[in-house]
Amino acid sequence: MATLLDGRSVSDSLLTEVKQEIDALKSKGIAPKLVVIVVGENPASQVYVRKKQEACEKVGILSERVSLPESVTQAELLAKIEELNKDASVSGMIVQLPLPAHIEEPLVIKAINPYKDVDGFHAYNIGKMFLNKDFEDMAPCTPKGVIKLLDFYKIDVSGMDAVVIGKSNIVGKPMSVMLLNRGATVTTCHSRTKNLLKYTADADLIVVAVGKAGFLKAEMVKEGAVVVDVGINRLESGKIVGDADFEGLEGKVAAITPVPGGIGPMTVACLLQNTVTAAKKQANL
Ligand code: NAD
Repeated sequence: MATLLDGRSVSDSLLTEVKQEIDALKSKGIAPKLVVIVVGENPASQVYVRKKQEACEKVGILSERVSLPESVTQAELLAKIEELNKDASVSGMIVQLPLPAHIEEPLVIKAINPYKDVDGFHAYNIGKMFLNKDFEDMAPCTPKGVIKLLDFYKIDVSGMDAVVIGKSNIVGKPMSVMLLNRGATVTTCHSRTKNLLKYTADADLIVVAVGKAGFLKAEMVKEGAVVVDVGINRLESGKIVGDADFEGLEGKVAAITPVPGGIGPMTVACLLQNTVTAAKKQANL
């Protein structure tokens, strides 16, 4: 039977560490604060934002939500970001994605001060992590969460043949870089990959982030592989499932993450850790 990579309990221990750091900062008069900008009423975004704010409360990070209407102009959104860039009480900010079509996402991300970019999406933070793993202090939270979960279970990726399915800027691409930084031989697959099976069939580690329920099936992976499922898909029944066919895979693989309770809580914990890092940077600590 596969080892269950339990993101819920690992994220709890990560949050305990984060809380200790926050307590230490507070004793120096520094109060980390996260601002979450939400544009419009996307129901999934509302759930994610609530989870992030609840987690902040748990560890003692001040959190503020800035809700802007769907009709907000790009100029108004950029002005809000600039105001928060200048506000010394704000340690970090995130703009909840996706944004309405009339707003250019790259311009919005570019406007955030890289030191306050706790999602790790700014070109400065993405570029820095290409150097090596010592420069991943503000890496995107989801791939960072994957690495922390693998580390916790002492799964050493060095020398592994790793396949990342998905090449988004927030998950797939930074994930590939972080695995490469740790000595894995990485193949990044995506919707135009001609023969996905050719890559997955021999992989020691597969990270799947495509956004399609049950996409990765048992016949696509070798026995004893490690599967990390980043996907979050809501079925018509309301049930949340990942991109991997968990039931089919768990009898074949060495280790697998559940959904929910895998990478989701790890992502939130890493966001809070990035917020603490940002607070320290701003205090020159
Ligand atoms: P995205 O839509 O930006 O990217 C999806 C990727 O999948 C693309 O690169 C595309 O090329 C690839 N893809 C699509 N169909 C494919 C196919 N048939 N074969 C191979 N590759 C294919 O999505 P994203 O933002 O990277 O998110 C991916 C999934 O991860 C979603 O379910 C999302 O909800 C989830 N997610 C979870 C967390 C978390 O905290 N756990 C965070 C971010 C995203």
